[in-house]
Amino acid sequence: MKVTKNLLEYRFNQYNRLYFDSRLYYCKMQVIHSTNTVGWYVSEGKKKDGLLCGTIYIARNVDWTEELLKEIIIHEMIHHYVAQIDGHPHCDGFSWYGLFGHGTHYRAQVKRLKREFGLNIRIHGGPFYLQGYQPPTTLWGKLMEYISCRLT
Ligand SMILES: [Zn+2]
Repeated sequence: MKVTKNLLEYRFNQYNRLYFDSRLYYCKMQVIHSTNTVGWYVSEGKKKDGLLCGTIYIARNVDWTEELLKEIIIHEMIHHYVAQIDGHPHCDGFSWYGLFGHGTHYRAQVKRLKREFGLNIRIHGGPFYLQGYQPPTTLWGKLMEYISCRLT
């Protein structure tokens, strides 16, 4: 299936209503061509109505299925939740965004969604779903992939 900005915005609103009690605001959705990961979240640092704004980027060069797209969008929405609602845009518990962005607040949401809705949102995304993906063969390549998996 093909992802568009409209589709992503529609899904964001739908999942916000279903899984986040319509509490999430000011999150832009962008479709991009990605070389290293299928989706990621950026907290923009500016505020509207006292709420932090953010952007979710979703790769277009993925053979998306409904299930995978849903999981990745919700995965990124949890990042927005942690930044906007929990107030941890840059670090989450002991962990540091960019390298280890899935700390205590993040994991609490993963558990809640599992408990309340039976959703399985995996913590580590990655480049594996990108079209034409080739696993790295060098140690450096593997290390970079390991790090980029944690950027999503
Ligand atoms: Zn993530």
